[in-house]
Amino acid sequence: MAAKYKKKCYRCKSKYVLVTWKDRYPVCYECQEKELSGEITDKDMIKFFDIPEEFYRENGFLRSIKINYLRYGKLTEPQVDAFKKTVAKMKEEKE
Ligand SMILES: [Zn+2]
Repeated sequence: MAAKYKKKCYRCKSKYVLVTWKDRYPVCYECQEKELSGEITDKDMIKFFDIPEEFYRENGFLRSIKINYLRYGKLTEPQVDAFKKTVAKMKEEKE
């Protein structure tokens, strides 16, 4: 697994976000909360995004996928796969 470290939120510059080297402009959960709260009407997607809220809180990647979907109304196959994989990994780590 990629090494994680803490970096200050790119937007509020006060909260710390857990990131990997890939995240150049990390944004914290609090700053994205509004964007994450959009309404999803597609039944399959409601199910897809129905994961524990703490996962979104902890993982900026999961947030970015959800925000992407809310913004564009669709996801690519690789995005769907990566989301599922990340969720499965986090569930494993919690056990
Ligand atoms: Zn922030």
